[in-house]
Amino acid sequence: MADRLIVFDTTLRDGEQAPGFSMRVDEKVRLARALEALGVDIVEAGFPMASDADAEAVRRVALALERPVVAALARCAPGDIDRAAWAIAPARRGRIHTFIATSDLHLERKLRMTREACLDAATSAVARARSYTDDVEFSAEDATRSDFDFLCRVIDAVVAAGATTINLPDTVGYSTPDEIAGFFERVISRVPNADRVIWSAHCHDDLGLAVANTLAAVGAGVRQVECTINGIGERAGNAALEEIVMVTRVRPDRWPVETGIQTPQLFSASQLLTEITGERVQANKAIVGRNAFAHEAGIHQDGMLKDRRTYEIMHPEDVGVPRTTLVLGKHSGRHAVEKRLAHFGLTLSRRDLDEVYRRMVTMAEAQKHISDEDLIDIAASVCGVAPAQRSRDTAAHEAGYGFGV
Ligand code: MN
Repeated sequence: MADRLIVFDTTLRDGEQAPGFSMRVDEKVRLARALEALGVDIVEAGFPMASDADAEAVRRVALALERPVVAALARCAPGDIDRAAWAIAPARRGRIHTFIATSDLHLERKLRMTREACLDAATSAVARARSYTDDVEFSAEDATRSDFDFLCRVIDAVVAAGATTINLPDTVGYSTPDEIAGFFERVISRVPNADRVIWSAHCHDDLGLAVANTLAAVGAGVRQVECTINGIGERAGNAALEEIVMVTRVRPDRWPVETGIQTPQLFSASQLLTEITGERVQANKAIVGRNAFAHEAGIHQDGMLKDRRTYEIMHPEDVGVPRTTLVLGKHSGRHAVEKRLAHFGLTLSRRDLDEVYRRMVTMAEAQKHISDEDLIDIAASVCGVAPAQRSRDTAAHEAGYGFGV
């Protein structure tokens, strides 16, 4: 039986903090419902002390959700903890997530606080949070750049004060996979009572390593991953939920863990976020990008038409993408053109097909994508016949693929 990997979604908190991604309260509730349908274990709904709107959003999400734990972020300060407790009060299961920086750089330059004061603030905040809920997460901000001995002292103290989840963020995306794996192994073996808490990773993508680092942490014993839809978040973003989940699905041999994610909901959750924020996903984004299941190169299309496994490691329908697209463009081959024409009832002689293919490539050099209409026009002008009247959708459905236009 594979270990359960807890999916902690912070799209509504870390994600929403990113420029261009702010959401209204009603939009947060809508997205939170989609996250529940997706099967995330924990929804971090906001940072109540940040603003009245944030507090209101957390409270509304807490009221709206049935199954997931609803978490609220709070600094290690009594006012923050009380405000977070108010916001999660209506939740069936509420979590207070309190954090403080533990690196000397943050303590000295940002908080202007001594290590001892940090230790005290962390311990009292966790104890205060525990007076409201028995689900308390503690985060050591900038953990990966903190003095190791001091970090372990803080963790030991907050575990004793009642923290149930310990999150060690790579706040600035500075770590590398081998390093973060070693880091978690060392902390987990060093802290007493390490087996009483859930260890969590929160990685940022400043060097493009957020997902790789998160998975490396899982390999080292982490059982909660903090992530966001489409990988949105501060600066270059957080680890992308859809990528972490699909790695565990496609490669259980490397990551023998199970999540509760309904993967066919991944694409619609991504689309809903895009719709709400108006920020598009890059075309080549793994799992949910427009090109994630599109094949244009001739050799690839030929392989796909013969056996999908040649160029497909997961089915688009596994993640809720309607279909694979074989895009006709200047890199496409004769086989794809022939197949496409056949779906419109056109069987061409070898010579006509060569001519249609030649003209299609010429046109594709000028206009990037070739629509079905373009292809049929070319075929009609080459052989002087009209295609049988079959709808594009019917043909695509029969083929099991769509041809993108
Ligand atoms: Mn963060």
